Amino acid sequence: MSNLLSPAIVILGQNSLELAQRISIALPEARIYGLIDRTIDVDITYNDFGDTLRELFRCGNPIIGICAAGILIRTLAPLIQDKWHEPPVLAVAEDGSAVVPLLGGLHGVNDLARTIAGVLGVAAAVTTTGDIRFRTTLLNPPDGYYLANPEDAKTFIADLLAGATLQLQGEAPWLQDSKLPFATDGKLTIEVTEYIRQTSPSYLVYHPATLAVELVDLDNIRVEEFIDRLQNKLQEANLSERAIAAIFVLERDLGHPLLQKLTQLWNVPLRFWQTEDINFGTSSPTNLLPFSKNELLISESNFAITRSPLPLKIENIGRKRGKVIVIGTGPGAGKWMSPEVREALQAASDWVGYQTYLDLVEPLRQGQQRHESDNRVEIERAKTALNLAAAGRSVAVISSGDPGIFAMAAAVFEALETENREEWQQLEIQICPGISAMQGAAALVGAPLGHDFCAISLSDLLKPWSIIAQRLEAAAAADFVIALYNPVSKERTWQLDEARDILLRRRSSQTPVVIARNVGRAKEKVEIITLDRLTSSVADMRTIILIGSTKTRLIPRQDGTTWVYTPRSYNN
Ligand code: SAH
Repeated sequence: MSNLLSPAIVILGQNSLELAQRISIALPEARIYGLIDRTIDVDITYNDFGDTLRELFRCGNPIIGICAAGILIRTLAPLIQDKWHEPPVLAVAEDGSAVVPLLGGLHGVNDLARTIAGVLGVAAAVTTTGDIRFRTTLLNPPDGYYLANPEDAKTFIADLLAGATLQLQGEAPWLQDSKLPFATDGKLTIEVTEYIRQTSPSYLVYHPATLAVELVDLDNIRVEEFIDRLQNKLQEANLSERAIAAIFVLERDLGHPLLQKLTQLWNVPLRFWQTEDINFGTSSPTNLLPFSKNELLISESNFAITRSPLPLKIENIGRKRGKVIVIGTGPGAGKWMSPEVREALQAASDWVGYQTYLDLVEPLRQGQQRHESDNRVEIERAKTALNLAAAGRSVAVISSGDPGIFAMAAAVFEALETENREEWQQLEIQICPGISAMQGAAALVGAPLGHDFCAISLSDLLKPWSIIAQRLEAAAAADFVIALYNPVSKERTWQLDEARDILLRRRSSQTPVVIARNVGRAKEKVEIITLDRLTSSVADMRTIILIGSTKTRLIPRQDGTTWVYTPRSYNN
């Protein structure tokens, strides 16, 4: 895992602060987490040790606990399932005398332990056999190398540990510099190559990201046909897509539909060029200047594939295309956030959003620049995001819940349409959905949205109250279950009472109503009341309200709480 999140140094008491600070000197990105009431002068205070640790673990933050190894193990035990995805976790003794890597062997925990042990002047208690003997993890190659057959690695490593020697074919400094037992007659082989190979438990293959795919003159190409042509050429040449470092394109082709398709297909980045950078040779038009020294593997009209001796450091070549990615974090943060959203947040260079939402995802931040704004100015915020992207940044616009439901996605499109600016039209725009507050609230009480329902925002900041009143009336008449967003705010205090009166004209006073506050967050609170008891005082800005239809039912539970559901069948 290359882009690790900032490490969390977690302490339980003030006397560990000094040690934490010493460790953080070696890890400038790290943040010190201190137990509330027991610590001061820490970066982040937490209430609950277990919840905090598990949330950090789920988010993928490396965890350095200044506490007993046993505490960390017991706290994280329920989450330990998958060594491919677990972040580094290590325990440091309170007096700094021991540094014990526990988890995250594939994500650099041993290197982290050695770094920390280095500043503390002790030896890291590394127990991973392969790591100690070979000083490298074959399962976790560095950036720029892709292991083609991880399924064979276990047997391969076991053979190595049992004494087998190996041959290296191809070049990779990280392997050459390791302590692997190389021998010209080795029984095992590691090959570093751009080409597709027959693999086996005695033959590991790494694809280095050394290929540059260069595209020009895209005006008249047909997307599907062109992709077929590219893929056929790669296949004929026996080249692996995993060896492609990036696709390089001229700036004037920035908005071409081919590019998004291709980057998704291969999952590789795009880099852009100015026209001056191109080397219009005689027969082949497609060798870009920075690659003129590379080996030309394929040269066709409209594209060329070249190979550099070592993986390309693409950040230094051309510039990337700006992108706006509008994401929904779910109602809280953490457990209800999609993996796509998590990735998008980490891949972004900039975060734009309302301060509260940015704070909710702060633990995931690793160097992204924050752009906070007041909640009211959504269009301004959308413009900020589009402008940043037009300057080549990757901008995540952050909404809570789902970004398309009373949130930023529509604001981005509204800005795009009303301003109609060329540099905005060329941007890549992507929306990543999230769980909306009404879904989170519904899940907490049963299935109130089980049949036809609608969502209405009671905010009259962007639309007149007369429309809201009309819509409530119509929704009540149509017997929808109704989710009320933005029920009240500091300035808007009478709307909810008015809404209740409108609804009461069509619905019984005993209609079940779910009042859900801080869904998925700390201080979550859910109440089930009847429609006649709905008043502004039961809600605030962080409350979502679900009004039952005439079919919505209650089921008492043994623990004294109640399920709410709306049946799908109208038979009885
Ligand atoms: N895009 C968001 C809605 C934003 S509008 C979504 O899909 O959920 C803001 C309103 O959403 C709030 O006034 C409140 O009514 C509701 N809301 C958002 N998050 C909530 C949460 N965690 N708990 C309860 N209601 C929430």
